[in-house]
Amino acid sequence: MKLIRCATTNQGKLREFRIAADHFGHRQIQIEAIEHISSLPECVEDGESFEENAIKKAIHYSVHAHRPVFSDDSGLVVAALDGAPGVRSARFAGPKATDEDNNRLLLEKLDGVEQRIAWFQCVIALAHEGRLLGVFGGSVEGRITTEARGPNGFGYDPLFFHPPFECTFGEVDANRKLAVSHRGQALKKMLDYVYQQL
Ligand code: IMP
Repeated sequence: MKLIRCATTNQGKLREFRIAADHFGHRQIQIEAIEHISSLPECVEDGESFEENAIKKAIHYSVHAHRPVFSDDSGLVVAALDGAPGVRSARFAGPKATDEDNNRLLLEKLDGVEQRIAWFQCVIALAHEGRLLGVFGGSVEGRITTEARGPNGFGYDPLFFHPPFECTFGEVDANRKLAVSHRGQALKKMLDYVYQQL
């Protein structure tokens, strides 16, 4: 068993990562959150790219953990909004915005807009004792619907129509989404690396 730690306090993300590890056949890699992460000095995510944020976080937290640490940064990029919400996806509608607030604002900004192409992007950085080991990316394309559809997933999933599925990410289960998603792709690349190199 190889243990790696994830720099997150988000149980939903941790769950997705474990489902993905299982899905991609890497059951021998155990993913755990960094212990006592909330009591460690915080890492401010102020980078201008997903990559910058992911690398910064992984290096920062790997100094405090005894195992390799990975961190992800992800978000939604909308072509018609010049790439917004991008790295500000989680706080699009303000610092304390909920998923509903962000989704409402996105629909408002795209009101009457025909060109609704968008993609989710994810970058995962892996570091050990302050040294960057690798950076792994993934993206998935779709388009923004005009209303929310489906109870599954989180964030912008109910507004993200994925043509090969003929439905939104909010309408598919976690396994089906992870098989094609930005996070699933990035995680698979990282797990393959851990399996082969560590
Ligand atoms: P992060 O935790 O800094 O990576 O924030 C990512 C934000 O981007 C989330 O809060 C969501 O708003 C959005 N996001 C990233 N990945 C997804 C996804 O798979 N589905 C829906 N929204 C996502």
